[in-house]
Amino acid sequence: MHGRVHKNLNVTHLDLKIIRSLPIEKMKNLKIVHFCGNFGDPLMHPDLDDIIDMFQRQQIEISTNASLRSQQWWSDLGKKKNVSVTFCIDGIGHEHELYRRNTSYEKIIDNAKAFLEAGGLAIWQFIVFRHNQHQIDEAKKLSHDMGFKKIEFRFSDRFDTHNKWKVFDNGVYQYDLEKASHQTTLRESLYVPEGEKYWKVLNKNKGQITCVASQRKKIYIHSDGTVYPCCQLGSVQSGKDVEKLMLKKIVKDFKKVDLHWVNFEQILKSDFFQKNLPASLKQDPFSHPICIEWCNKATGKYYNQNLTSVDIP
Ligand code: SF4
Repeated sequence: MHGRVHKNLNVTHLDLKIIRSLPIEKMKNLKIVHFCGNFGDPLMHPDLDDIIDMFQRQQIEISTNASLRSQQWWSDLGKKKNVSVTFCIDGIGHEHELYRRNTSYEKIIDNAKAFLEAGGLAIWQFIVFRHNQHQIDEAKKLSHDMGFKKIEFRFSDRFDTHNKWKVFDNGVYQYDLEKASHQTTLRESLYVPEGEKYWKVLNKNKGQITCVASQRKKIYIHSDGTVYPCCQLGSVQSGKDVEKLMLKKIVKDFKKVDLHWVNFEQILKSDFFQKNLPASLKQDPFSHPICIEWCNKATGKYYNQNLTSVDIP
């Protein structure tokens, strides 16, 4: 927040012991494991190599800014047949580094080359802003020439109240990021003027909530060991106080969804997963604002054309 680490952010790696305790052998339907940073980047994890080796029978998808680790490491990764990597490269050259601050475009491209030359399966994800929208065709060509399987263009959901986003470094304003000129934000599609929050309109016109994570049989483990259906709910802990308070009312006891205290099976059988969350989706006694924002069928982000940066493809 404003170029500083948010005071409530629990900066931690998911404990290797916790991952080892997962009953992976019993999970016959576990097909895909996705390492996605919610606030961080999976390549920062010191035990990443061990973790990758734990999921021999699953397809592993890694989403990363890729400005980390040596070319040798990337080359070794490229030889693993069950791994694919999404490289988050938002522009070519300097343009990339305006959003992905303190990463190196040159290093990322070198890493991607090492991975691709070793036979790795790579996807290029490109978030389109005004400052990089002129590079779309060039990026398409480069991704093809380098051997990426595909390139996916997305919009950012940072522009929820304004069409500009102020970038800070340690509290000092640097520059504005602007939404792409052809992006229609959720606020705009709800006819909410710039500067105003869209929440009231989104909530007023909401439809029934259908949990997309449940529908797609996905589950999310947060870096602190707590388990939720999706990363959006997992990120509430570092968000607005009112959202934290409401999540606490639904979860009741966080130890009961925390792999430091109970096992995975107990969590799936917990009141949170079996009763409280399903009831809350039916507004009993209330629905969590995050579930309304993402999963209500009328105005929710998953069901809206404004689908932006999400963990569920
Ligand atoms: S936001 Fe709520 S309803 Fe949507 S996937 Fe996550 S837990 Fe389910």
